[in-house]
Parts: sequence; C-alpha cells; structure tokens
Amino acid sequence: MNLVFLGPPGAGKGTQAKKLAQELGLVHISTGDLLRSAVKNQTPLGRKAKEYMDRGELVPDELIIALIEEVMPEGGGVIFDGFPRTIAQAEALERMLERKGLHLDMVIFFDVDDDVVVERLSGRRVCPNCGAVYHIKYNPPKEDEICDRCGTRLIQREDDREEVVRNRLAVYREQTAPLIEYYERKGILIKLDASKDIGEVYSELLRLVNEERN
Ligand code: ADP
Ligand code: ADP
Ligand code: ZN
Repeated sequence: MNLVFLGPPGAGKGTQAKKLAQELGLVHISTGDLLRSAVKNQTPLGRKAKEYMDRGELVPDELIIALIEEVMPEGGGVIFDGFPRTIAQAEALERMLERKGLHLDMVIFFDVDDDVVVERLSGRRVCPNCGAVYHIKYNPPKEDEICDRCGTRLIQREDDREEVVRNRLAVYREQTAPLIEYYERKGILIKLDASKDIGEVYSELLRLVNEERN
C-alpha cells in the first residue's frame, strides 16, 4: 500500500505517519525530515535547500523529485508525508510509481482550521538529536523540555516562529492546496478530521486505511 498524507503544516501528518508506519510496517518518507538531516550534515542538497526552508518557501521541485527517487523502495509500501507539495511533484510521483509498477492507494487529507494549525506549530518542540516531536500542551515530554527517548533538551524549529509560519501557510494555500482537487478528481482523496486529539485522529485514520485494505 502507498499513501500520501496531505495537509497544512502542523496538521499532525508526521505524528500520525510515524504511528501508522510502525503499525503497518510501511516506510515513512518525510521530505521535511530528510531535508533537515541534509541541512544538518551540510550535504550539497542541504546547502541548496536551507535558504528556502528558512524563509518557509518550497525547495525547488527538481531537488525534491531527485531526493524521492533516491529513497523510494523498489517494492513500495510507503507513507509519503509532506510530499507531494506541488502539482509538478504529484505528476513526477505518478510517473515514478508507474515505472516501478506501483500506484497510490489513498491520499489522506488532514482537514484542520488555520487557528488550530497556528496553535500546534507554536507549541511544537522537537528533539535535535533523535527527531522526536512533542507539543508543550498536547503531547508534552515527561520531564519539562527534555526528550523522553534520548534525554536531549528540546528546541523550537526556526521555521515554527510566527513570521515564518504565516509565510508557510500562504505557500500551502497557493502551491499545495490545489492538490486536494487534483486527487479528488482522481478519486483517491479521503478527508480526515484532524482537529481531534492525537488518539482520536489515529483511530479514525486506522479505520479508513483498514476499510481500503479489505
Ligand atoms: P511542516 O511542518 O510544514 O509539515 P516539513 O517538515 O514538511 O514542515 O517541511 C519543512 C520545510 O521543508 C518546508 O517549509 C519546505 O521548505 C521544505 N519541504 C519539505 N517538503 C517539501 C516538498 N515536498 N517540496 C518542497 N519543499 C519541501
Ligand atoms: P505536521 O507533520 O503536519 O507538520 P506534526 O505531526 O509535527 O505536524 O504536528 C504539529 C504539532 O502538533 C506537534 O507539536 C504535535 O505534537 C502536535 N499535534 C499533532 N497532532 C495533534 C493533535 N491531533 N492534537 C493536538 N496536537 C497535535
Ligand atoms: Zn531525542
């Protein structure tokens, strides 16, 4: 099964993708995580991507498409999280899957209002060491500001600051939201109410995916 998680920044895609990938044995491909790791390791991709990410803009399609080609497993079984983000990326994904004899089964659209997204992004804290994601109110670590998994002090992502968040939402509306209609037309879009708490969203997600599998 190959899934796409689509939705605004902060909708909860990464949180749900990690849980579902683990439960179903799928590969979680987060372009955001891959890019942050490239930036941290100062790879050629990371050096090119950094300026876009800092401004909350999209990294150019050709870099993203090359990255996906590199990490895509031959046999599929993937949750794409934060990809595709443009129509051009969606078309490239379709061609790539076709070449491998694969296809997308579902595109899950994480439906949530802007005010919720802003609250989630402003309270998001991440572990700079292991990548674990927390929320100061909705998913706090056991010990204040310290990662449960590795004991490292949590940080706020640079692009979760308010000025950058506003730009990311505008970019989402302009460049990514058109994918909702694009996938609706293909008949594979499924809307998920992402405004509920983490556990409730996960139960609903599991239900939708199991319905598709059976
Ligand atoms: P979010 O919290 O918005 O889901 P991500 O971690 O997915 O954030 O992405 C962080 C940044 O990485 C984006 O603002 C963008 O600059 C870049 N990025 C991630 N995925 C893509 C993509 N598919 N296309 C272009 N840029 C991307
Ligand atoms: P995305 O990958 O879509 O950018 P994340 O999964 O990183 O979103 O979630 C954004 C923030 O909101 C994180 O701090 C996360 O802990 C929190 N969060 C995720 N899902 C929920 C939810 N259903 N209710 C409340 N907070 C959530
Ligand atoms: Zn950690």
